[in-house]
Amino acid sequence: MADYDYDFFVIGAGSGGVRASRLAASFGARVAVAEERFLGGTCVNVGCIPKKLLVYASAFREEVAEAQEGYGWSLDGLDFDWPRLIENKNREIARLNGVYQKLLDAAGVESIEGRATLAGPHTVAIGGRTLSARHILVATGSSAFRPPEILGIEHAITSDEAFYLEALPERVIVVGGGYIAVEFAGIFHGMGADVCQLYRGPMFLRGFDDDLRQHLAGEMRGRGIDLRFDSVPVKIEQARGGIRATLSDGQVLEADYLLCATGRHPNSEGLGLEELGVKKTANGAVVVDAYSNTSLPSIHAIGDVTDRINLTPVAIHEAICLANTLFNDRPMAPVHDAVPAAVFSQPPLGTVGLTESEARARYGAIDVYRSTFRALKQTLTSSPTRCMMKLVVDRASDRVVGLHMAGAEAGEIVQGFAVAVRAGLSKVQFDATIGIHPTLAEEFVTLREPVPEA
Ligand code: NDP
Repeated sequence: MADYDYDFFVIGAGSGGVRASRLAASFGARVAVAEERFLGGTCVNVGCIPKKLLVYASAFREEVAEAQEGYGWSLDGLDFDWPRLIENKNREIARLNGVYQKLLDAAGVESIEGRATLAGPHTVAIGGRTLSARHILVATGSSAFRPPEILGIEHAITSDEAFYLEALPERVIVVGGGYIAVEFAGIFHGMGADVCQLYRGPMFLRGFDDDLRQHLAGEMRGRGIDLRFDSVPVKIEQARGGIRATLSDGQVLEADYLLCATGRHPNSEGLGLEELGVKKTANGAVVVDAYSNTSLPSIHAIGDVTDRINLTPVAIHEAICLANTLFNDRPMAPVHDAVPAAVFSQPPLGTVGLTESEARARYGAIDVYRSTFRALKQTLTSSPTRCMMKLVVDRASDRVVGLHMAGAEAGEIVQGFAVAVRAGLSKVQFDATIGIHPTLAEEFVTLREPVPEA
């Protein structure tokens, strides 16, 4: 066998790259990981973690209002200090960067700072050196994409900058209708900013269950977010201390910032992939087979750069499968079915399995169970907010093939139920489970009557 410097060279120390490195090392491989920016990648630095911290921060306003209105609390002199929050958040991220470094060190993985590029099927170039490896992993993630067709798009910020604003904006325009757009609309609104969200189509959150999408649109509007569909900016200009956006219908809006949340593109440029003939899709995603192998047998790819399901736990799953396949003599293909997900909007959404329309297309005859109700916590307040819980059942097998929710702690609740959906449990088995009372989650085991067929 050829003598390589390493068994495994990983490009990118994000969620996927770090897990693949550590696991491969635990199987006895000699591993190096190269990172040009920050340990932990998008998730830790400008994604899931800081986002969730900002979501927590922004939810307090509504909770305090409910505490005062219904629960006997009097809280005077309420004040919010954005710089203090950002400073605390930055400190936590620096701590996590350190944790990642320690994990890599403890696993015996060599960390190399810098940008690595592919120089051959078994070689990478980094910092003037050329290093060889039996296997190379591309785990370079994705970056925020700004639509070039919007004139003056350079005046927009992306989520990268939103995490480091010096002051809390008073007015924000959010463009997009995916995860990041609805999450940041909720964050800025919750902190007291005027938020206008623009989505190009007739209903945002494409790919989610239609009832959930409509429910969330109503909830966001009910909270005071100016949510507009079939609306996009065509021009962005700088204006007095902020920006001015001209919309497709000619309307002009002014705001402190326009946040562009129009998707992310794979980080696959300038890595030397084209030169080696590694296949990519039209949008730049690295093409991989079921085992995360690229078109070159020694080069593999996982995570956002492959644009399969762009979620941290999915990248970690792909990493675990690849490390086992390459270094543990245990071939494992990642499974991309029934992946649970949450959108940390306000209220949050949780979902696992098929939407109603997907299930109808796949199974034909389905039963839908749906409940929209006022949570106990809101009964002492005038809040109009409602929860929605929904089960989609394949009639022939009685299996619950989709489970969806909008309401407090949807992510926590759906994570638990995802085990049941993944295990293929039937509606009868859901019904046989005793509820925990009083909770929102008990609704999933007490839904008795299907929605009548239209
Ligand atoms: P998404 O792909 O979720 O959404 C992109 C949005 O931008 C869609 O509404 C899309 O519309 C719209 N859009 C795309 N191109 C244009 C354009 N040229 N002009 C106007 N609108 C446009 O991307 P996000 O940026 O929100 O998030 C990226 C990924 O990160 C997500 O897909 C998700 O996988 C992950 N993520 C997960 C989170 C979580 O787990 N909670 C949180 C944040 C991100 P259309 O639907 O019409 O194409």
